[in-house]
Amino acid sequence: MAKLFSGIQPTGAIHIGNYLGAIKNWVALQAKHDSMFCVVNYHAMTVPYDAEKLPQMTLDLAMDLLACGIDPRKSILFIQSDVPEHTELTWILNTITPIGELKRMTQFKDKSTQYPDAINMGLFDYPVLMAADILLYKSEVVPVGEDQVQHLELSREVARRFNNTFCQIFPEPKPLLTPAARIMSLTDPTKKMSKSAGPASYIALNDPPEIIAKKLATAVTDEARKKRADPGTPEKCNIYSLHQYFSSPAEIKKIAEDCRTASIGCLGCKKILANNIIKELAPIQVKRKELAKNPDQIKKILAQGAERARAIAQKNMAEIKTKTGLLL
Ligand code: ATP
Ligand code: MG
Repeated sequence: MAKLFSGIQPTGAIHIGNYLGAIKNWVALQAKHDSMFCVVNYHAMTVPYDAEKLPQMTLDLAMDLLACGIDPRKSILFIQSDVPEHTELTWILNTITPIGELKRMTQFKDKSTQYPDAINMGLFDYPVLMAADILLYKSEVVPVGEDQVQHLELSREVARRFNNTFCQIFPEPKPLLTPAARIMSLTDPTKKMSKSAGPASYIALNDPPEIIAKKLATAVTDEARKKRADPGTPEKCNIYSLHQYFSSPAEIKKIAEDCRTASIGCLGCKKILANNIIKELAPIQVKRKELAKNPDQIKKILAQGAERARAIAQKNMAEIKTKTGLLL
């Protein structure tokens, strides 16, 4: 079984972009891979955050993942900071990562613009910590959304450099993308949906039906259409794109025709989408409420996950330290 690793930050409520781009795929892949899923709280510290709220956000995220179908009997689910080897390996990888490569990273540029007063070394080093997350377990496949492909390329580059400099020990990790690798923001369809961009811009997995309907009702559609005052061009509309992942082929075909001939308006189109999203999320929300009743059980799952992850991490770190001349 190929070794699989992926992570998600406890930076806010998870949304349908995280779900369709990553988590749904994790759930499907876990049966056929040696899978590890990590709540990456060290990554979450690279942007301004509330230290008092982080523990609950971390626990909430773990519950979300379990509610989506991550199964601790099939996968290792754990919190990044419970395995200190992640940061230990980051230091070693830092010494072989050219800063020129890090300066090219789109996420660093985007988040520097988003938080201009908080551009810190951790934000710059984020991709190296991510490379360490993956390489620490000699992972071979990494299911992520499209926004993380550039970081994964860097992980491959870092693996190659390590292998060439010291010893051939790391596989070059490959990305696994879903057809929904880039879900766009409801408020600005030129940007990807992001936890950190605020609740109006995304549909959270835990949003109740009336909030889902409300967020979609105000979501941006094909704006240019209004200016052109011509019939709708569904392919240019973010709402139509979302239908691809929640509606049936027959519904999608009809919506496209009705949009072009203006027999359906944006509100009607959004209502159908809202109902389909509500239906898809309902079972996850039911399970999530069940899990929330027993936080101690979740903490136990995470502690067991950390123990299993740490055993692998310690073994691999011993090898890495030997090859890099750190052991006497
Ligand atoms: P933040 O705004 O804090 O960066 P995020 O929404 O980007 O949050 P992450 O925790 O950074 O979420 O990423 C978790 C996973 O979700 C990654 O695999 C990422 O590629 C994927 N992902 C994030 N946003 C989208 C999106 N809009 N469409 C598809 N996949 C996404
Ligand atoms: Mg992100």
